[in-house]
Amino acid sequence: MNKFWLLFIAFLVIPSAFARAEAVDGFGDAKTIAGEHFDIDYKDGVDLAVLADKLKISDTDQQLTSLKIDTSSPEKELASKVEILFNRASDVLDMHVYSIHAHIKIFADFQQLQDFYHHMYQGNLPCTGFSFYLPQYDSIYICAFYFRREILGHEMGHAIMTRYFVVQPSIKIQEVLAGYVEYQLRKSKDQ
Ligand SMILES: [Zn+2]
Repeated sequence: MNKFWLLFIAFLVIPSAFARAEAVDGFGDAKTIAGEHFDIDYKDGVDLAVLADKLKISDTDQQLTSLKIDTSSPEKELASKVEILFNRASDVLDMHVYSIHAHIKIFADFQQLQDFYHHMYQGNLPCTGFSFYLPQYDSIYICAFYFRREILGHEMGHAIMTRYFVVQPSIKIQEVLAGYVEYQLRKSKDQ
């Protein structure tokens, strides 16, 4: 094959590969905080300090994960707390998949989250009823009001399982396991 055809094929293939990697879900116009395993995308009207506080990351969480909260800025505080929560969820499931680099997409209120889901799929929100994970966009969708450790941890469980299992277990089994993460994180909230 001559150079012309190689270049021509590259011209066709490379842009479509990028298009696949950045599947568009219509979330758009959000600010982003880059994190180690989750980038945090949030809409206008979301208060980062409130979000960080709602995760209730305790001294015990820090000790169990050997990670510290970074208080050098509101962005770093939130990203570090999300990272601690991810490590807690991984430990609860005993599934350690550190190749994850997914997104958490945060709407300012529950109505926006519902409208977003309804626009794409119709019907009521699946999963916790307050949040959901879409593997095709590698994204957790949640709103500021329900940004709680047990709810976000439940969705992190889905993101972890999607990668951990070569053959995906049934939806029922996935919900049982994600529910177990939710239960453990809720139970350990004030420890
Ligand atoms: Zn679920």
